Amino acid sequence: MKNADPIWDHVDRHRDDFIALSDRVFDTPETLYAEYKSVAEHVQMLRAQGFKITENAAGIPTAVIGEAGDEGPVIAILGEFDALPYLSQAPGVAEHQPLEEGGNGHGCGHNLLGAAALLAATAVKDWLAENGIKGRVRYYGCPAEEGGAAKTYMVREGLFDDVDAAISWHPATFTGVNEARSLANTRIDFTFHGKAAHAAGAPELGRSALDAVELMNIGVNYLREHMPDSARVHYAYLDAGGVAPNVVQAKATVRQLVRASSLPDLADLVTRVRKIADGAALMTGTQVTSQVFSGVSNLLGNRPLEETMQHELEKLGPVAFDESDLSFAREIQTTLTTADINTTFKRIGAKPKKDLALCDFIAPLDRHSDGGEGSTDVGDVSWAVPTVQARVATCAIGTPFHTWQTVAQGKAPAAHKGMIYAAKAMAATACRLVEDPSRIDAARATHQDHLGETPYTCPIPADVRPPV
Ligand SMILES: [Zn+2]
Repeated sequence: MKNADPIWDHVDRHRDDFIALSDRVFDTPETLYAEYKSVAEHVQMLRAQGFKITENAAGIPTAVIGEAGDEGPVIAILGEFDALPYLSQAPGVAEHQPLEEGGNGHGCGHNLLGAAALLAATAVKDWLAENGIKGRVRYYGCPAEEGGAAKTYMVREGLFDDVDAAISWHPATFTGVNEARSLANTRIDFTFHGKAAHAAGAPELGRSALDAVELMNIGVNYLREHMPDSARVHYAYLDAGGVAPNVVQAKATVRQLVRASSLPDLADLVTRVRKIADGAALMTGTQVTSQVFSGVSNLLGNRPLEETMQHELEKLGPVAFDESDLSFAREIQTTLTTADINTTFKRIGAKPKKDLALCDFIAPLDRHSDGGEGSTDVGDVSWAVPTVQARVATCAIGTPFHTWQTVAQGKAPAAHKGMIYAAKAMAATACRLVEDPSRIDAARATHQDHLGETPYTCPIPADVRPPV
């Protein structure tokens, strides 16, 4: 069948090379600002495709930008390529089988995310050149989405200042325009400084930093009942003060991850968490210092862009999975619970369909979703410029992300089909915007309205640098 849109041909032409790129990134899973091999793969592809390349973007060694085209509007296409720790998993098998004990794995499908985004940028570049259309397409290779907030730093450096619209996607269990629902968050490390002492011989001389961390967590526990429903506070011990219980721990650090549905709500909650830290220090006779590790904003929607993308998804129709894709998806589903599967439907406001292993529909734009909000540093891009994202089915319905099941499906033919589809959806959306500047004007007007209501403040303090 002939492609209905010429931009789809531009995507299909490069199909094999970019699937291979995604698979190579899958095979070298790297995390949190250490994505050296993965970014090198993306740089090599940008070079092969003739993009003008800026390495070390925002002073981050694993961030890269590639640009093509002349004059006209600037369309940003955002890619990611970072993996997650402890999720090593053999691809193509429906059982938990780590390749390397304790190793990294692509548990959020960012191998697909980055390769499809770069493929979309490549297709738009080819389309602009072939048709002599004025416009620029820019690929943003963004590291450390998982916990590192690289895009927030890239926004802060002004790297999006001349961008007219930003487009991205995320692998998912269903296909549709991504709803602008995500939580602003910040990670703050609280370090308590006490005084060491012999825990039996002279405990009265000691001041325990570990006690302070424990009391801070108890305080936060009591806070949880009195915060907005959508807010979250999670914690991790970064330093419990050592392994010797017979020494009063002189230093201990806890990381608090605070999430809220908006930046003002986040600021309010952070103030309360800080007061709890001060209280814990007061109770234990210790001192507390704090360091912001990262921060991201909630996502801002943009209806004109969402309508444009929805139209392109409907033109494409659902991802065309085949019988062997379905059979592997069914195998994966045997490792999931009914709750896992039903949650997928609930999240997109749909009734659970029995025996549906892979998404065969496009979720409507106005759906009534329920729960499942995380955070993403795309949020900060969405405050800088009008932004839209797709969700595209790449794995079995019910697959929980950040699990071995996601990794197991990351190189499967279904994932490759979803990735190519995502590239077409993003590239087509970009073309419609370049062809019709009134859409960009409408997107910009919507964006300005949002900023008029709530101005943007970067959630990362000015003196905090990317941890590179
Ligand atoms: Zn992700």
